[in-house]
Amino acid sequence: MMGTCMPDLDVPIMKGTTGVVVLTEAESRPARVYPCIRCGHCLDACPVFLNPSRLGRLARAGRYEEMVDADLPTCMLCGSCSYVCPSNIPLAQMFGLAKRQWRRERELERQKEDREEEAEEVAASGPAEDHADDAGRAA
Ligand code: SF4
Ligand code: SF4
Repeated sequence: MMGTCMPDLDVPIMKGTTGVVVLTEAESRPARVYPCIRCGHCLDACPVFLNPSRLGRLARAGRYEEMVDADLPTCMLCGSCSYVCPSNIPLAQMFGLAKRQWRRERELERQKEDREEEAEEVAASGPAEDHADDAGRAA
């Protein structure tokens, strides 16, 4: 349930490959996705008691911060919710993407803060360094 589709047979088997599932063409045909009918099957299936239905709605809206507040980091991407969903909503895949996007946004935010901090330090130490340069030139 946690696997990733591979585009062709040229993908190598590596040390980290834990298993290979081969499906027939009919089994691997993309299923049509329907709207959530709020049946609650995904809630029953989640081993860590999340609300995948709600997380799915937030993921579709790109509301990653709210997903984190709703315990997205606890999701282990097991795929149980997607497996039982009668509407074929690819919940686990959406959560995987949301996690990556949220981490990326957080990293960009952290880099921006670092740059601003550096700029403040440079601005604060600027004149002193100019004096040091002058002293060096005079010597
Ligand atoms: S299993 Fe699918 S249809 Fe049912 S509540 Fe969850 S997301 Fe909605
Ligand atoms: S993929 Fe995440 S939300 Fe879905 S059942 Fe597994 S742990 Fe719960």
